Amino acid sequence: NGAANGAAALKFKVNAPNVQYTDDHILSEYTYQNTRIDRDANGNVTATPTETIYHFKTEAKVPKVGLMMVGWGGNNGSTLTASIVANRRNVQWRTKEGVRTPNYYGSVVQASTLKLGVDANGQDVYIPFRDILPMVNPNDLVLGGWDINSANIADAMERAKVLDYDLQRQLRDELAQYKPLPSIYYPDFIAANQEDRADNVLPGTKAEHLERIRADIREFRRANDLDRVVIIWTANTERFASVLPGINDTADNLLRAVEAGHEEVAPSTVFALAAILEGTPFINGSPQNTFVPGVVELAERKRVHIGGDDFKSGQTKMKSVLVDFLVNAGIKPVGITSYNHLGNNDGKNLSAPQQFRSKEISKSNVVDDMVAANHLLYRKGEHPDHVVVIKYVPAVGDSKRALDEYVSEIFMGGRNTISLYNTCEDSLLASPLIIDLVLVTELMTRVQFRTGEMAEYAPFHSVLSILSYMLKAPMVPNGTPVVNALSKQRTAMENVFRAFVGLPPQNEMLLEHKAF
Ligand code: NAD
Repeated sequence: NGAANGAAALKFKVNAPNVQYTDDHILSEYTYQNTRIDRDANGNVTATPTETIYHFKTEAKVPKVGLMMVGWGGNNGSTLTASIVANRRNVQWRTKEGVRTPNYYGSVVQASTLKLGVDANGQDVYIPFRDILPMVNPNDLVLGGWDINSANIADAMERAKVLDYDLQRQLRDELAQYKPLPSIYYPDFIAANQEDRADNVLPGTKAEHLERIRADIREFRRANDLDRVVIIWTANTERFASVLPGINDTADNLLRAVEAGHEEVAPSTVFALAAILEGTPFINGSPQNTFVPGVVELAERKRVHIGGDDFKSGQTKMKSVLVDFLVNAGIKPVGITSYNHLGNNDGKNLSAPQQFRSKEISKSNVVDDMVAANHLLYRKGEHPDHVVVIKYVPAVGDSKRALDEYVSEIFMGGRNTISLYNTCEDSLLASPLIIDLVLVTELMTRVQFRTGEMAEYAPFHSVLSILSYMLKAPMVPNGTPVVNALSKQRTAMENVFRAFVGLPPQNEMLLEHKAF
């Protein structure tokens, strides 16, 4: 890092009076334009353009970051670790198709571009998404984590059966040195069929577990000389925890419930608490309600960032594209039926009813905002029929199959049926999402903002809705809108990042090309 870090290492500079660079920061003054709608007693609507000045301050120096995964020895954890090591060492491997080289395909930050502007000839100029702001290079992440299974990451990679043998062979020696820390196992929260995996578990009480995980985070930070740590739950899907008054409804009650060893406190919630108490962002990649109200309150109190829930990798990602397209084309989806079958350990865990229920809930609301946005097609409260089925078929391994049928009403009483069949390794979809979640979360810890009414800069809200693109059931600050539509989610990320460097939102108008 050294001299090449900080403002001096930026890939472009913005030439505008509202943008300043110091040795350590990018400062931008940004006019946020919106439209306020008022309705009078007669139903007349007035639209008033509004403007709010935001000041953004982004730390330009990229810190040394550690990623700790809960469920490190799982398919996602081992695949991500192996893939980062392969990228870092540029390991090439042979398949029957020839020589393969590592990449970060599937990561928006690493493998997609955004339009920075137009050149003197009126041609669009694209830059890698990662160059809009100084961000961590995934090759530089220090990796670690916990698992209730003691397998080292080389054995875990082999068990996952995701990566090609010739690649595994070359990574084995390094990965064999990575051993997951013992973790918290409360059998009631994951499927009974996971019991034979649990050979690396912490003894003691819930209060001792919380302290132990906190100590693990501190030790990881110290041993690797890290500036920051991000923690991600990529362990098995848990059942939902009941939200109980006096137990997990407030931060103080929840911390007391941990002291008392209350049975409704899930392992993932203990991890989230430990992370927050250590000032470490925590992301939940599974569907369960890790973020009970007490966790969210503690995160807000400590001003620590959290994000969730459930990686949006395959079927739901398609849904958040397709339904958005149909509804915005004036076509009315009336039935969405989704089948999945998969044969990895995730599928095995989800074959138990309570864990399936968590997934079903997380997959169920994804079209709500798109349907609600079009009152010409849908009456208030009207919804398409929407069914999700998941089955465990060991023979297909990590290669998940997703079959979807979309039935829509079209012009003059006609019907359209779209049928999709999607197949690929689940962990190769989820791993790049983990990278994006970590990189964007880390970036958001380095940005502060101030509006006219604020005396000082403040961090962004603890609940990072900007992560929505990567998440199936995006968590947002209480009372704020949930956006599921994929293109809106990406636009939000892109334009918010543009705002941090003082550039206007991308508008796609191309007005300069529309005159005679
Ligand atoms: P996996 O079963 O291969 O890995 C999960 C790992 O978590 C296992 O190694 C298990 O031993 C470990 N584990 C369970 N409880 C633990 C605990 N309390 N502490 C520490 N480790 C624990 O599953 P996977 O395919 O890697 O998926 C991980 C999670 O991500 C699942 O919950 C899955 O639903 C979710 N997810 C995956 C995708 C995807 O595309 N792969 C998409 C969305 C969500």
